[in-house]
Amino acid sequence: MTKPILPGATLGVLGSGQLGRMFTIAARRLGYRVHVLSPDHETPTGQVADLEIQADYHDLDRVAEFAKGVSVVTFEFENVPAETTEVCNRFGPVRPAGSVLYTSQNRLREKTFLRDAGLPVTPFVSVTSVDELLAGLKKQGIPSVLKTADWGYDGKGQVVIRSVDAAATAWASLNVPKAILESFIDFDCEISVVAARGLDGQFVSYGPIGNAHHNHILDVSVCPARVPASVAKQAIEIARAVVESLNVVGVLCVEFFVTRSGELLINETAPRPHNSGHLTIDAHVTCQFEQQVRAICGLPLGSSELRSPSAMANLLGDVWEPGEPNWPAALAHPNLKLHLYGKQAARIGRKMGHLTVLSDNVDEAEQTARAARDALMWR
Ligand code: AMP
Repeated sequence: MTKPILPGATLGVLGSGQLGRMFTIAARRLGYRVHVLSPDHETPTGQVADLEIQADYHDLDRVAEFAKGVSVVTFEFENVPAETTEVCNRFGPVRPAGSVLYTSQNRLREKTFLRDAGLPVTPFVSVTSVDELLAGLKKQGIPSVLKTADWGYDGKGQVVIRSVDAAATAWASLNVPKAILESFIDFDCEISVVAARGLDGQFVSYGPIGNAHHNHILDVSVCPARVPASVAKQAIEIARAVVESLNVVGVLCVEFFVTRSGELLINETAPRPHNSGHLTIDAHVTCQFEQQVRAICGLPLGSSELRSPSAMANLLGDVWEPGEPNWPAALAHPNLKLHLYGKQAARIGRKMGHLTVLSDNVDEAEQTARAARDALMWR
C-alpha cells in the first residue's frame, strides 16, 4: 500500500497557465507547497506557487532538479514532452502517468485507444497524403473535419472540408506529416464529464456539463447539462470506462457530441482539469482542482455533489478591447463569482478569466452569466 502524500509536502506541476494556478490555489488551501516548472516567467501559476522554475521542458538537468524537490509531479496541459515526465518519474510518481499523456497528446493514438476499448468515438481515418485524404473523404463523406494529429486544442490545426475540390488546399494548409480525418457531426449539443480517479480506484464525476463554443473556443458551460437522464447516465458510464481503461490517477475530462438521435460520441479527452469544470469551484462541494490534489496525493476523493445549478462564462481578451472591463457592473450580481488568471496582456482569444453564476435553474444562471459578461464592456 503506497503511503499518502500529506499536507505540508511539496507538489510539482509542469505547465504554468490558469489550470496550474487553480490547482495551486487548491493545493495551498490544503496546506501543500507547490513548485511549478515551465519555460515562462511571472506566470499565472508562478504568481501563486511557492517556487517558479523557468526552464525548457527539454532541459532535463533542470527538470531533474525540479523533480528532486517534490513528492509527486502532475501537469496542467497535455503537450509535456515524454522525456520530461520520464525524468520526473525517476525521482517519484507522475500522476496521471506519462503513458496517459502519451495516449492523449495525439488525436490518432487517443481515438484508436478509445475505439479499441469499445468506446464510441467520432468515426475517423488516419491521413498522411492528399491521396489518403481523398480516399478518406469517400469513406467519411462530406463535410469532414481534418485535424492535425499532434498539438491540437481549441480548434487550432483543423479545417472543415466541404467539397472534394477543397481537399488539396486543406491538406497543404495543415502542413503536417500526419492528420486525422473525422466525420463532421451535425450534433444536437456538446457535453463533458469531468471525472476523478483515486490511487485506490475511487471514482467521482461532475456533470454532464453543457458546453457552447464560439470560434472553436469554449464560451459558456452550464451544469447540469440539458440532456435526458438516460444520456447523462450513459455519459458518466463512458467517462468511468475511459479513466479505468487508461488507469488514470487524477482528473480527466471527456468531451462528447450528443447527436440528434441522442447518441453519444467522444470528441476528445484531456487528462487534467478542464475549462468546462471551472464552475465546480463555486458550484460543487469539492472542485476539480481539489480532486486533482487529493488523487495525486493518494487521499480519498471529496464529494462531487452539485450545490446549485450554475453557469460559467469565459472571459477572453476580447472583453478588454473597449478598455478596462467594467468590473463593478458585473460584480453587482450578488450570485456571481469572478476568477481572473493574472495575465498581463489581454489578446483576442486569450483566456483571461471566467465568471460563474449560481442560480435556482441553469437557464437563469446562463442568462445572468451572459448579461454580466456583456456588462463588462459597458462604458
Ligand atoms: P476540438 O479542438 O477537436 O475539441 O474541436 C473544437 C470544436 O470544434 C468542438 O468543440 C466542436 O464544436 C467542433 N468540432 C470538432 N470536431 C468536430 C466534428 N467532427 N464534427 C463537428 N464539429 C466538430
